[in-house]
Amino acid sequence: MLQLYNTFTKKVEAFTPMSPPNVGMYTCGMTVYDYAHIGHGRKYTGDDILRRVLTRLGYTVTHVQNVTDVGHLVSDADEGEDKLEKGAAKAGKTVWEVANFFTKHFYDSMDKLNILRPSIICKATDHIPEQTALIKKLVEKGYAYDTPEAVYFDVTKFADYGTLFGQSLSEKKTAVREGVRTGQHKRHPADFTLWFKRVGRFVSHTMHWDSPWGDGFPGWHIECSAMAMRYLGETFDIHTGGIDHIPVHHPNEIAQSEAATGKPFVRFWVHHAFLKVDARKMSKSLGNFHTIEDVEKRGFDPLSLRYFYMTAHYRKPLNFTWEALEGTQNSLKELRLFVSRITSDVSRTILTQEKLKKIDDVRKRFDEAITDDLNMPQALAVTWELVKSNIPSPDKYDLLMDFDEVLGLDLRFMNYEVRIPEEITNLAQKREMLRQQKKFDQADEIRKQIEEKGYLVEDASTGSIVKKKIS
Ligand code: AMP
Ligand code: ZN
Repeated sequence: MLQLYNTFTKKVEAFTPMSPPNVGMYTCGMTVYDYAHIGHGRKYTGDDILRRVLTRLGYTVTHVQNVTDVGHLVSDADEGEDKLEKGAAKAGKTVWEVANFFTKHFYDSMDKLNILRPSIICKATDHIPEQTALIKKLVEKGYAYDTPEAVYFDVTKFADYGTLFGQSLSEKKTAVREGVRTGQHKRHPADFTLWFKRVGRFVSHTMHWDSPWGDGFPGWHIECSAMAMRYLGETFDIHTGGIDHIPVHHPNEIAQSEAATGKPFVRFWVHHAFLKVDARKMSKSLGNFHTIEDVEKRGFDPLSLRYFYMTAHYRKPLNFTWEALEGTQNSLKELRLFVSRITSDVSRTILTQEKLKKIDDVRKRFDEAITDDLNMPQALAVTWELVKSNIPSPDKYDLLMDFDEVLGLDLRFMNYEVRIPEEITNLAQKREMLRQQKKFDQADEIRKQIEEKGYLVEDASTGSIVKKKIS
């Protein structure tokens, strides 16, 4: 069973889905006004690993991810310009062109990191009716109020607002300090915008829609609640995001969703720590902002970056350096080379009980690592122990391929497959048992069957070995 840290309760808890075997998982996506960078890569690799682990545990995951293409202002607390409008002005393009360009760039970058595409990708601008319906409900229930410049959520009406994620109200006040200046008709500094009207500073805002409160556009927070509930229901299993979403965005999502439905919104909140570069925040002005293309241009396989991400636990900050990437690139090469070498070993040893137990033990320890709040550094350590173990090559190969379903390192990269089919190994297994029972005639009969199918079986001191006949 997966043990997963829940930021909401601040505890590692045993994860079980609401409606097994289905798991609903929502991930806050990119604001598509600029290039995706290796920091995004870390965050979304973390989500990908969680999804792959859930799948390995037998769950059917519906993974929903939004694309923020409207309403996310420069500060998370509704201050400044809309990021998309700003990006468009900078690029001399329309907001729609900018959104399309960077959405494509984002998913191309994620593909290079072997991040599985979400089951549902939803754009904020494609879900305006869902958002206005939710805002309408909040206004009707008295949780939101209309003003000349915007519709705001009234945080004083939602009793728990000041304590969500264990933050004190004073911390929250700090997080929303810019909000004081945002709207002149805001009643409380922490009140946040559900609908911006196309007036004042937004009078020439390009993206706008009609609504019961007039022409305008939705705030950033409401899109996630509206789309998550549209695709996953009013209560769902897992919601993920970066740690920067803990102070403002996620409490706002909880408040507006639960105020509207009267039900718990999310069962598990998962937050990923940041990637730093040369021990500093990644930023263009510091010249330490790197895209996946930058990594490729320097001759690195993007999957060595994925490997690098897995060297730290997802809740711990990770510092990127080119030297560290060189190290993981070498480890990845070594692993792939090892896999390519053992693939050409086409023989198959019929294993002793002791070896079978050993295989079982390695698999168990890998599973223990990944289910221990996604302990990937430990999962990598177990992978290397397997490589160095005396488990026969074909079985090692099978285990490595099995682990790679979670690691996503494309370990088969250098290979073509020459495998002994399961039908043949089953026959050989049966023959070995007959031999041990001294039923040699029946064992010989099976040897003939194996040979007729194009394989040879040889008896050795460790057991019997099956090989493809070379014609
Ligand atoms: P954005 O659209 O840039 O606000 O970010 C999308 C997601 O990427 C958010 O969940 C952020 O927390 C995350 N993110 C942004 N920068 C980094 C970084 N340097 N390291 C890890 N995650 C990041
Ligand atoms: Zn979100």
